Amino acid sequence: MASGEFNCPSCAAPLHVENRFSKVVICQYCGQTCSVSPEGLDPTGEKAQLADFESILSVGSTGSFRGRDFKVLGRLRYKYDGGFWDEWFLSMSDGKKLWLQEDEGEFTAFEKETLTAPLPPFDEISVGSMLDVNGKQAFVTEKNKALIAGGVGELYFAVTPGMTANCVDGNCGGQLLSIEFTPDEINLSVGEEVPIDSIVVNS
Ligand SMILES: [Zn+2]
Repeated sequence: MASGEFNCPSCAAPLHVENRFSKVVICQYCGQTCSVSPEGLDPTGEKAQLADFESILSVGSTGSFRGRDFKVLGRLRYKYDGGFWDEWFLSMSDGKKLWLQEDEGEFTAFEKETLTAPLPPFDEISVGSMLDVNGKQAFVTEKNKALIAGGVGELYFAVTPGMTANCVDGNCGGQLLSIEFTPDEINLSVGEEVPIDSIVVNS
């Protein structure tokens, strides 16, 4: 991974990569998707600009969440049969990575957790069943195949627009689990719903 100043390989606009853990950056001017490597930016061929919608957040905005300052680095939109949701990637002042899932104005705050034991394949997981996640029993509440419809800025996942993500949502002792199966990796995130007034955006 790399952070620093780059130029978009497609339109040459300056592209700033702030977080060294970012895996993908999407140009805000032309929508070019690039993977971030120590050698620099590698265009993946996809261009996917995002139709805007009303939100309290935008890429570049700063604010505070539960007493921690944040900066919004990126945004990703997922579309599925039931509609769409957005993921906002935040860099926190304490160095942690956090993302906020926004679904019809409801926010869930997630942090990544490492998978310590293998999961069954996506197709073998069914809604309403129990799933062993890192030795704990999680109840599977939802399962979706979602299209990554577009994005902008820095992303912590190695996903690119046009890709389909297989998503499993669950509940484990009051915590919300989100598991995303992509061709390259399985991402486990643990979070909780947060009231919108806990997110304070600087004007
Ligand atoms: Zn560009």
